Amino acid sequence: MADKINAVKGMNDILPASVPRTDKLPDSALWHWFESTVRTVLSRYGYQYILTPVVEPTALFVRGLGEVTDIVEKEMYSFTDSMNGDKLTLRPEATAGIVRAMVEHNALYNGPLRLWTIGPMFRHERPQKGRYRQFHQLDVEALGFAGPDVDAELILLVRTLWRELGLVEGQHVRLEINSLGQPAERQAHREALIRHFEAHADVLDADAQRRLHSNPLRILDTKNPAMQAMVEAAPQLMDFLGAESRAHFDAVRAVLDAAGLAYRINPRLVRGMDYYNLTVFEWVTDQLGSQGTVCGGGRYDGLIGQMGGKPAPAVGFGLGIERLLLLVQELGLAVPSAAPAAYAIVPSAAALPRAMAAVEQLRAAGVAVVQHAGGGGMKAQFKKADASGARFALIFGDDEMARGEVTVKSLRDGSGAQVARPLADVAGWAATLQSSAAQDTTS
Ligand code: ATP
Ligand code: MG
Repeated sequence: MADKINAVKGMNDILPASVPRTDKLPDSALWHWFESTVRTVLSRYGYQYILTPVVEPTALFVRGLGEVTDIVEKEMYSFTDSMNGDKLTLRPEATAGIVRAMVEHNALYNGPLRLWTIGPMFRHERPQKGRYRQFHQLDVEALGFAGPDVDAELILLVRTLWRELGLVEGQHVRLEINSLGQPAERQAHREALIRHFEAHADVLDADAQRRLHSNPLRILDTKNPAMQAMVEAAPQLMDFLGAESRAHFDAVRAVLDAAGLAYRINPRLVRGMDYYNLTVFEWVTDQLGSQGTVCGGGRYDGLIGQMGGKPAPAVGFGLGIERLLLLVQELGLAVPSAAPAAYAIVPSAAALPRAMAAVEQLRAAGVAVVQHAGGGGMKAQFKKADASGARFALIFGDDEMARGEVTVKSLRDGSGAQVARPLADVAGWAATLQSSAAQDTTS
């Protein structure tokens, strides 16, 4: 046999639950459930679906995210196209690509847009639980809106998503918000920060030393415990905000307050990209160790202009799907069953054509039916029916088919109850399989 070729380190297969795996990553049924919940919630808020390429020019991210950021400095998968020498990068996040697309297609000409996408992102990080080299994000962007109303809308939209998924805000996930103000306010704060860091030069680590003048704000984001006390005592941006920035922040808070959504103002919340201004927010959990940020976003009013578009404000967020599903798994939340309503057992080959025709009618009526394939006796087929998780077995035995019937046997309620149904009127009883299967949930 030839050697096996394995996946790239830090890049995972998302597999159906029936494939046993040792790494305990969420199975594809969870993904499916998440994606369909997302679609429902996003359309309820009037957001439109968009897809952009996974590969973009490297310059897009260097200009968009800022040169002195973790992502651009050390996390990007960049390569040269061997055909033409182009410098390309696997996208590490979605916002820059969406903004590029909007500018390229002059998409904001007719007014603002609400958009969402879902897909893989790539960052060369050290793989660990909740941190991978290929991971997936739900990304939601509102482009062309200046007001605090849309900032609040996005935050409330995430709360709705939590509720639909069965997560409790304030308990399973908590909201943190901050305001980064405007560039001039940040400049004044930045100068005060540099003075503070210079006065504590002895505790700065190598990363911080390097960033002291290039990007001192990033130092606040440090995960180095030896620097925590010094960072804690640093001057706070909130004290440098002008009246307009304060009013914007207060207006976001007023909407959240009226909606009964509790949050913590975290003055040290700065986010990993340079493009943010005014509102920033994160949804965090205590259940995933140091990979506790499930969702993060904020306003980026300068980015569209910086990307060569007619300047326009914007706000958005990214949600890490692996982290969210790990959380769902860890909490043992109830997830709708992905099992079929019924499993069709056909012990004799002669009965197969008529049986399959009936199963097709059931599917046309909207019932999920797995057809046994590969032959085998009644007992072997029953085993498969059990393993499928189906609520009912449909037994297309020779005897009942001779009577023009199929036997519907209950598999999951312990009763083993059987009823005969007429093959001539599948539509008449299809719904009886459908409704009872739909209420089924597993955790
Ligand atoms: P962290 O501080 O954990 O590195 P980040 O600030 O780099 O996160 P963002 O760029 O804001 O993350 O991305 C939005 C979300 O995407 C994060 O909140 C997280 O849930 C998820 N995410 C980011 N990087 C990874 C990764 N390497 N693997 C899995 N999920 C990730
Ligand atoms: Mg990161």
